[in-house]
Amino acid sequence: MIRKRRLLDRVRGKLPPVRSWDGLLTGELAQERGGFGLGRVPERLRPDATTAMVCGYCSTGCSLNVHLREGEAVNLSADGGYPVNLGMACPKGWEALAPLRAPDRARAPMVRYGRGGDLREVSWEEAAGIFCERMRGVQARHGKESVAFLSTGQICTEEMAYLGAFAKFGMGMVHGDGNTRQCMATSVRAYKESFGFDAPPYTYGDFEESDVIVLVGSNLCIAHPIMWQRVLRNGHDPEIIVVDPRKTETAMEATQHYALAPKSDLVLLYGLARLLIEEGWVDEGYVARHTEGYEGFASHVAEFTRERVAAETGLAVGELERFARTIGEGERVSFWWTMGVNQGHEAVRTAQAIINLALMTGNMGRPGTGANSITGQCNAMGSRLFSNTTNLLGGHDFEDAEDREKVAGLLGIDVDCIPDQNSLAYDQIMDGIEGGTIKGLWVIATNTAHSWINQGRARRVLEKLDFLVVQDLYGTTETAAQADLVLPAAGWGEKDGTLINSERRIGLVKKVSRAPGEALADFSIFRLLAEAWGCGEMFREWDSPEAVFGILRRLSEGQPCDFSGVDGYEMIDESGGVQWPYRGEEDEGKERRLFGDGVYHRENGRALFCYEAVREMPELVSEAFPFMLLTGRGTSGQWHTQTRTGKSAVLAKTAPRENYVEVNPEDGERLGLATGGRVRVWSERGEAVVRVFLTATVRPGQVFMPMHYAETNRLTRGEFDPYSRQPSYKACAVALKKT
Ligand code: SF4
Repeated sequence: MIRKRRLLDRVRGKLPPVRSWDGLLTGELAQERGGFGLGRVPERLRPDATTAMVCGYCSTGCSLNVHLREGEAVNLSADGGYPVNLGMACPKGWEALAPLRAPDRARAPMVRYGRGGDLREVSWEEAAGIFCERMRGVQARHGKESVAFLSTGQICTEEMAYLGAFAKFGMGMVHGDGNTRQCMATSVRAYKESFGFDAPPYTYGDFEESDVIVLVGSNLCIAHPIMWQRVLRNGHDPEIIVVDPRKTETAMEATQHYALAPKSDLVLLYGLARLLIEEGWVDEGYVARHTEGYEGFASHVAEFTRERVAAETGLAVGELERFARTIGEGERVSFWWTMGVNQGHEAVRTAQAIINLALMTGNMGRPGTGANSITGQCNAMGSRLFSNTTNLLGGHDFEDAEDREKVAGLLGIDVDCIPDQNSLAYDQIMDGIEGGTIKGLWVIATNTAHSWINQGRARRVLEKLDFLVVQDLYGTTETAAQADLVLPAAGWGEKDGTLINSERRIGLVKKVSRAPGEALADFSIFRLLAEAWGCGEMFREWDSPEAVFGILRRLSEGQPCDFSGVDGYEMIDESGGVQWPYRGEEDEGKERRLFGDGVYHRENGRALFCYEAVREMPELVSEAFPFMLLTGRGTSGQWHTQTRTGKSAVLAKTAPRENYVEVNPEDGERLGLATGGRVRVWSERGEAVVRVFLTATVRPGQVFMPMHYAETNRLTRGEFDPYSRQPSYKACAVALKKT
């Protein structure tokens, strides 16, 4: 019936003719079904070979040996020869094949007819036709800007680039953002302003070279377990300082733990800067030669006296002095931060306050130093440079006419295809849907209905769309449950491409397993849709992941992220990954850090001190909501919304099956709570009933819930850093009652 209607529509000219992409469809499917993604079985992937590839979960970018039998991956082990993980892997890496074999893998495109109807399988031909017809229909009724995409840090760089180019240059979209907004947007903005480019300066060797390691808002043991192993390899008996309201696993191992009041980190960092100035621990030579704006910064922090900082952070004056002295007397001090900083209401200024400490003490560019943001997802760094979301491909600027001309020239496309404005951020896209200006949304490899802040509102907002497409490994995610069209995607290990890790290292992933049913690599899906849309000609050169890698090399040339010297996948494979910049032999070396010459990417070559007045937390505890809810990672066996790690029976044993809340025993006694019992937790946004875990990891008046379970984001409040527009997941007010 449906097919008949489609044929009728085609006859009436409503759908693009399929003849042009029928052949490609056959070719893509044949290629995906028939073997390895590059259309051949390379020597390295002989049927019973072992091959190495980087892990597809976190930004550490460990290399895993994949053992094949009769051409299919059967087992994994950690790669001892890779400079990142040195033979180690965390539980997620060891279990990376399990999610591929899950019974709920999406095996065919599925379409939903009518709200609340069941998803029904359709062919790729029909799915592509529906995609084009519905997206075009929305654009015809509401304008080109009425469709948007939400991408991810989980797919390969070549796929991100294809998606961003097809959506913006081919389909005419202006707005597309990624789930990297949820984790790294703050660091991007902070680095761009302070250094002139989004350039995390470090190499993992710095964990081993420091004599003082300062971790702000980072539970490294759990979130980045292999980076933590690199800390443990440090032979300098380092001071390990953790700044975190909660006594995390990392804090328990630290030599100094500063359990400050939630979201008082900016006050603490400004107070430390004042102490360093007072005590004469500033590297004035470095400041004079390589920075700008120090005088203003020094007078800004003058008001952050010991007494004020102690009162606002809850730390003792003696603790502040010890912290400052440890930094001031350290020879090689490295500063690291992650989501505890990035996900805050004044996150960019907090990240920059950390950068300022590194600059003023001259802890930059030398082994064991640096102002180092640790990324989250396996390809967040690829997304930051090549997803065509927040910046034009290769770290270029949509709003810069010269950049648009340059990119158009390199791609051989009409410059008018490139939008001359930046995209709305994720939260603004959600607002656009709520306000009725965005009516069509394409979600790729992310789970908005679970992970977006203030989840109840997010789900209601998605319901307002005229057309929601979800492209994912599974048709069972919370977001797919709301989709009109589900496109089944291949996962890590089922496709070829590159990922870029936290230390800017480009690593390879390879096709070592066949995706189930009709599922296709995201790369192939983008190619098919580009053909179906009628803009396949624009992407003639983009015919394989490695061909796109070559295009990205060209786009990177002359940029700070220049990797034009990487001449292909084989070089990456043989060299143990390559850190950018890599322009050629002058950039040789397995591990390289940035700014050794003190020259930054700003026009005058100097790093900038950025600072601002401290802002009040958007939501404070009250009589009605007397507890401050902290959120974060639960265990090293869980990843984000658990769509993948939840499929592994082994990983399931490493984490509680049900959501839980950590409550201080004093509060537990007052409320009559016992470990293992149930408690109702609610905020102004929603409520959850979860297990109780009484523990002194949180202070009285604070509670903690892990981010991996759907209930947690029912409670969080939709606040955003004003500059990065990153959500402030880390603190909101809640109430508790025994059930
Ligand atoms: Fe994979 Fe990250 Fe675990 Fe390494 S630490 S094995 S990259 S999840």
